[in-house]
Amino acid sequence: MLTIEALTKSYGQNGSPAMCALDGVSFSVPKGSFVSLVGPSGCGKSTLLQCVCGLMRPTSGRVALSGREIFAPPPEMALIFQNAAASLFPWFTICGNIRFVLRRAPGSKAEKLDIAREALRSVGLADFAGHYPWQLSGGMQQRAALARGLAYGAEILLLDEPFASVDAQTREDLEDLLAGVALAQGKTVLFVTHDIDEAVYLSDTVVVLTPPPARVAAVLPIDLPRPRDQIGTREDRRFLDARKAIHALLRREV
Ligand code: ADP
Ligand code: MG
Repeated sequence: MLTIEALTKSYGQNGSPAMCALDGVSFSVPKGSFVSLVGPSGCGKSTLLQCVCGLMRPTSGRVALSGREIFAPPPEMALIFQNAAASLFPWFTICGNIRFVLRRAPGSKAEKLDIAREALRSVGLADFAGHYPWQLSGGMQQRAALARGLAYGAEILLLDEPFASVDAQTREDLEDLLAGVALAQGKTVLFVTHDIDEAVYLSDTVVVLTPPPARVAAVLPIDLPRPRDQIGTREDRRFLDARKAIHALLRREV
């Protein structure tokens, strides 16, 4: 269980007036669950995610994993950003990028190569191991970044708007890929998006954030069976109700 306890974050104390990005944000991410954070652009989602993984110190409050406070990114966590192209080394092949994150892991070279190949297979990139990131499309680069997170063996995936810059069809494919992998491998996922439909489609729980400074407007359980599908699920009454409720919450907050 990952717990976020009364997190507050203010930026810019050096002379300029402090800007409050997070204002007492609390929620929890149970082991094996898929939780989305949804809120308008600029509300503080990325700030929150960076505090959650320990890349940034909150002004007050704490984040704990199984009761232990997080001060630096723990080995159980992998972060996947919106712009995969910027997070893959252009001088390594796709396979090389994955082997790089495994360099300190136990195991022989051959075993690590197997792990890398298996991760690439699970995201449908088995035939592209020897390609360089810049030889792949945006959607494929995003898949490669996901494969790297999976190969690393992290139990918890933190994703910051990972599908925001790919076309609609690729985005649906990537959503289903992530949901499938998370379900099959029992991953715990904290997923940031500004897209209400995407949050409902993927999640067990949606945490709705207010416009800045971010506070928790609501925590909504999403009662939809899995596996989900892009057509049937999106037509389901429960999907439509959840989507409407989140819309209303965000409007009220604005
Ligand atoms: P979101 O991810 O929801 O779009 P962010 O967390 O990126 O929002 O930003 C929330 C607010 O904090 C914005 O007003 C942004 O300008 C500000 N902010 C983000 N990062 C920094 C930083 N490193 N220094 C100062 N202000 C920042
Ligand atoms: Mg952001």
